[in-house]
Amino acid sequence: MGGPDAFARMWATVLTETGYVAMDHRRLVDQVREYTEVLLAGLRADRFNPEPVERIGAGMVALRLAGAQTLGASLQLIGADLLRVVGGDDLRPELLPAVQGAFAAGFATAMREKVFRDQESIRRAALEARRGAESALMASEARFRAMFNQAAIGIAIADPDGTLLEVNRALSEMLGYRVDQLRGMNVTRLRFPDEPAAMRRPLEEISTGARDHYRMERLLRRSDGTPLWTDLTVSLVRDATGAPQYLVGMLEDITDRHMLEERLRHQANHDPLTGLGNRALFTERLTAAFARGGRHRVGLCYLDLDGFKVINDSLGHDIGDDLLVAVAARLDALVTGTGRMVARMGGDEFVVLVEDNSGRAELVALAERILSALAEPVPIGGHRLAVSASIGLVERSVVGATPAETMRDADVTLYWAKADGKNRWAGYDPDRNAREVARFTLSARMPAAVESEEFYVDYQPIVRLSDGELVGVEALVRWAHPEFGRLGPDQFIGLAEETGLIVPLGRWVLREATRQARRWHDTYGDRAPVVSVNLAARQTEEPTLVADVATIIRAANLPPSSIQLELTESAIMNTTGGPLRTLRELADMGIRIAIDDFGTGYSNLAYLRHLPVHAIKLAGSFMEGLRDSPTADPADAQIVTTLVTLSHALGHVVIAEGVEDPEQADRLREFGCDNAQGWLFAKPGRPEEIERWLEK
Ligand code: C2E
Ligand code: CA
Ligand code: CA
Repeated sequence: MGGPDAFARMWATVLTETGYVAMDHRRLVDQVREYTEVLLAGLRADRFNPEPVERIGAGMVALRLAGAQTLGASLQLIGADLLRVVGGDDLRPELLPAVQGAFAAGFATAMREKVFRDQESIRRAALEARRGAESALMASEARFRAMFNQAAIGIAIADPDGTLLEVNRALSEMLGYRVDQLRGMNVTRLRFPDEPAAMRRPLEEISTGARDHYRMERLLRRSDGTPLWTDLTVSLVRDATGAPQYLVGMLEDITDRHMLEERLRHQANHDPLTGLGNRALFTERLTAAFARGGRHRVGLCYLDLDGFKVINDSLGHDIGDDLLVAVAARLDALVTGTGRMVARMGGDEFVVLVEDNSGRAELVALAERILSALAEPVPIGGHRLAVSASIGLVERSVVGATPAETMRDADVTLYWAKADGKNRWAGYDPDRNAREVARFTLSARMPAAVESEEFYVDYQPIVRLSDGELVGVEALVRWAHPEFGRLGPDQFIGLAEETGLIVPLGRWVLREATRQARRWHDTYGDRAPVVSVNLAARQTEEPTLVADVATIIRAANLPPSSIQLELTESAIMNTTGGPLRTLRELADMGIRIAIDDFGTGYSNLAYLRHLPVHAIKLAGSFMEGLRDSPTADPADAQIVTTLVTLSHALGHVVIAEGVEDPEQADRLREFGCDNAQGWLFAKPGRPEEIERWLEK
């Protein structure tokens, strides 16, 4: 268990080398051993909590372990050696910058407070020295001198107009001037020429006596022109009449801390591999673009390389990394000087942010340029790697939109670009999104809905045209959705086919319809209607279909000829072999087969004669032409007559669908059509309505 102990010893040595440590070495090692545990706990955390680590940063200041280079040296040691020396799988290297940051923050805050306390006591001593009673004067003057000379912070005493009267050694070292050079110099010479005027106002106010005290972070210029970041406090000392007499300035050199903060900030906001801004920086910029208000438009191209994983897996991660760097460089070249921003979002995902864009066309042009910039193969390690990307494009006014929505939409749109075939961009389309969300919601619920019987079956009469007798019913499924209300099959059957859920759902419908058929059979005997059930193409591909159907019909103890299965032409013809054999097996069992929506698909009449088909259902679309109306298409009537004649020649029963008015029924009768179904006779309804029909 040498790890943490070894690290604590290293740390103690570093502290001793970089600062004045009052503690004896054994106690120091024990102390930093405790600190090491806190750091390690931070690196093990599921959710990093900065507070304990900040506290040890502050603790170092409180225990006077803090010299001029203490912070930098400790951070360096933590960064370079902690994981290496301690090891352990439970430590998460990605938390290291956060741990360092918390440590630095705790240290810096405590240091600033300590300096401020020191400054207060110096200021008080200076005041006492000036105003002190006769007897105390000598003593306080001496105390002030001692503090002035030995202080680690820079101290300056100046005229109200800023001419330096006295400076201490620490300040002269900070600024790189000799003490005698500084005496008589005006503080304005220590400024950077182009600093904002607002930085000067506090000094003007204190010189005129308008205020007594101020404190700010102030950038000064050293004798060699280099920058000196200071934490500056200036206090006014007034004379007996209250008029400004002296200014006392106290300066802490915070240049290292400032640089460190800058570096940590840069690290926290940039991707080390490509040097691009990272997700955090991008999110900050996007949020700021929305927060800025006004009516401007924000756009982004969110891109993901196509097939990057294959390159990574086959050519190795080094080449993968090189490729990412090359892509980053091309994207960067596209945006430099345009005010746009590229960031790496992680993995092989990048984003280009276009603030203040002129509209969608600008984003489309950018997406096109990105695609062509990536089209040129990338030479890496002797390969010429072809790379392409898919881009999700989102462009909108900031009014009424949020960054989170925008990112979510970009994500969805990127997915569309991939799904639509890759190496392309897709633009955000709210209608497409709404459709997909609705579809997703429905398909997610469907399995549970089959289980919990949210589906039910309505039945629509099929009548004989010659005498209006009820000969059959079509079973039509409905969904009583708890949220969306009653849904028709057009809203979910297609979806169920895509997800494969049509198989269990179709089985359920068939079982339900068969049980119903059994009940009617018991009550009405030979007068019971044939129950016609729709079968989706996807179901006919199911190897167990024939067995399932056989089981269901047997379980109901029903003659198979009481059931008819409806399939569309395309379901029968678009696949070869399997479905046709299935159809034969079903027909051989004695089940009737009907071709649904006939006339809308291939209508391969020659093929029809080889099929084990009992009935043809003429598509409802032909009924338009049979209306008694000037807009009726006479070709429809021609087609219907032909189909009826042909079907009869092949021995099939013909059923017309979608019959809505008496004229249509008359024409169909005239053409010799056998049966019909449609609103003229009845809409689909509950089983009781069929019973009422049978009983009248
Ligand atoms: P389909 O098989 O062509 O069913 C006939 C559709 O026409 C039904 O719509 C019915 O309500 C409607 N209809 C009936 N008479 C008339 C009329 O006079 N005029 C008009 N304009 N329409 C009429 P529905 O119930 O919305 O069903 C739509 C489609 O959903 C069905 O078309 C069928 O393809 C499918 N479907 C329904 N239930 C099932 C099922 O259990 N399994 C499968 N796989 N598909 C089903
Ligand atoms: Ca049907
Ligand atoms: Ca139909």
